[in-house]
Amino acid sequence: MNLNVALIAHDRMKDQMVNFCFAYESILEKYGLYTTGTTGKRIEEGTSLKVNKLASGPLGGDQQIGAMIVTEEIDLVIFLRDPLTPQPHETDILALIRLCDVHAVPIATNLASAEIFIRALDQGDLDWRTLRKNNK
Ligand code: PGA
Repeated sequence: MNLNVALIAHDRMKDQMVNFCFAYESILEKYGLYTTGTTGKRIEEGTSLKVNKLASGPLGGDQQIGAMIVTEEIDLVIFLRDPLTPQPHETDILALIRLCDVHAVPIATNLASAEIFIRALDQGDLDWRTLRKNNK
């Protein structure tokens, strides 16, 4: 299935993201993976997944993923946000979440929803996105 997943984690959530990717490696390896810079580096160090690394989040990586959402290149976003630490790029984060809503892209912002979404992806619940792209 030709679907792409975006993976982003704030600093305090990066260990969680690496553990998540390690646990679900056999699912994630079937998809195109796009990450913000440091998150991608950590995932590649901690798993055998290959990812496409964009800029670091505070330097515009969230905006790059947002642009890919607009062009329908991202089909699922796993964004492990740190809810307890102010971020310098809060506006970019809000913009990314808003674009997911505009374009009906599923976004998980914590581990509990990420696990549900990744299983849904694995059982084909997002295949409608491929059909939609093929019908354009
Ligand atoms: P990073 O960016 O993966 O480059 O740390 C994530 C973020 O802070 O949005």
